[in-house]
Amino acid sequence: MSDGTTGHLQCPFCGAYEVDRLFIGSLRIDACTCQACGSRWDEDVSTGRYRGRGCGESVLAPRDV
Ligand SMILES: [Zn+2]
Repeated sequence: MSDGTTGHLQCPFCGAYEVDRLFIGSLRIDACTCQACGSRWDEDVSTGRYRGRGCGESVLAPRDV
């Protein structure tokens, strides 16, 4: 699904490819915003792994406990 090596990131919530990435060097994360559904989340730059949502706007996905 998502290889994390290109700038073409798929939204984990709605599956759209209209994702804005904002690299935050001090935190070594990408702050991602989906233009399609408005979800926001963070990704670890070094591993490309999902780091959780920046806000709780979307309730489509279960919360990671
Ligand atoms: Zn989305």
